[in-house]
Amino acid sequence: MEGGALDHFLYRDGQLFAEDVSVAEIARAVETPFYLYSHATLVRHFRLFDEALAWGPHMVCYAVKAASNQAILTALAAEGAGMDVVSGGEYARAKAAGVPGARIVFSGVGKTRSEIRAALDGGIRQFNVESEPEMQVISEVATSMGVVAPIAVRVNPDVDAKTHAKIATGKSENKFGIPIARAREVYAEAAALPGLKVVGIDVHIGSQLTQLEPFEMAYRKVAELTEVLRAEGHAIERLDLGGGLGIPYARSNEAPPLPTDYGAMVQRTVGHLGVEVEIEPGRLIAGNAGILVSRVIYVKNGEGRDFLILDAAMNDLIRPAMYDAYHDIVPVAEAEPGIEQVAYDVVGPVCETGDTFAKGRVMPPLAAGDLVAFRSAGAYGAVMSSEYNTRPLVPEIMAKNDQFAVIRARPSFDDMINRDTVPEWL
Ligand SMILES: *Cc1c(COP(=O)(O)O)cnc(C)c1O
Repeated sequence: MEGGALDHFLYRDGQLFAEDVSVAEIARAVETPFYLYSHATLVRHFRLFDEALAWGPHMVCYAVKAASNQAILTALAAEGAGMDVVSGGEYARAKAAGVPGARIVFSGVGKTRSEIRAALDGGIRQFNVESEPEMQVISEVATSMGVVAPIAVRVNPDVDAKTHAKIATGKSENKFGIPIARAREVYAEAAALPGLKVVGIDVHIGSQLTQLEPFEMAYRKVAELTEVLRAEGHAIERLDLGGGLGIPYARSNEAPPLPTDYGAMVQRTVGHLGVEVEIEPGRLIAGNAGILVSRVIYVKNGEGRDFLILDAAMNDLIRPAMYDAYHDIVPVAEAEPGIEQVAYDVVGPVCETGDTFAKGRVMPPLAAGDLVAFRSAGAYGAVMSSEYNTRPLVPEIMAKNDQFAVIRARPSFDDMINRDTVPEWL
């Protein structure tokens, strides 16, 4: 990595590279659009967190939902990462990548009996419990299997994460966790249930947080609660502090805190408690480790505006449509220095106006056939893709040094059509 670069997607002799592989070369081999991950960037981001918490016992549990390809999970598992899963499917993925149950935490507001059973069967580090009814069901399932389920209760600290409304989770009006004011009552109830063993407290206040203050406020409340619950006889050995640290999407003007700053803040707020710290970062590990590569199909000159029509669409990357998210869009062949920039509305081919990636985006002039890359697309990109408009599920590629491999292949039209079944009686 050169200088302060955030990732391993850099220009060399005017061409964008993923580590030591030319992006244009991959585009020739795979066809656009596709996601492209840098192995070195993924690993680097995991290590930054691991090192930031090295002052005490800790486990970095990668939030699988951010980017859940088996190759990504396998790369992180090889680094010793734990995993945070939110569904039976993600649990199965983590296990398939070789992560032992003892390094998997299970979060989410709606765990079903069969998901709970599967996790207890395959081993689980802890369930992060989100409600009293769920607590009772986990106890019932565990008791019926003759085991005891380790749990942490997710508390809602009622702090404003100052992020997009759809990804804020720590205010009392959000559906997540139990109000921190009711924690004593709920922990007493947990202690009385035969199938549960209380091991800690869990909190997660939102995603894409660009300041430390909301985390710090939440963690101070959790630290206080730790002392209160311990005084009441609960063994609080672990604090799961969630994920949520943001990344700079617009490189020019955002500077979210770094994992080192975050780790120091964690030490400041909970370091004196002698607990094992768990964190669940997703976006900061995968976000800048992936780009979406697309080709310009047409440049359409409209009235007062020019449209850049790409072969990627909202079904491939939904963040701009869903969260009004900003992604840097850069040409794969670097623009001549000093070339006059133009403004484009960057859109995909899907039949709705929501299929707009950017409006009035100022960038170097492009022509049909040119390649572009959406930066910082590694998290909540491929995992949220769909086949809307019967567009094949976008492929994923991983680069490592001078090698690259397809880690999720593009389905053919027949693959897609044959997944459906037409009943005989039609
Ligand atoms: C989504 C989620 C995360 C990961 O959030 P990031 O913003 O990607 O770091 C961690 N924990 C829980 C419980 C989540 O729901």
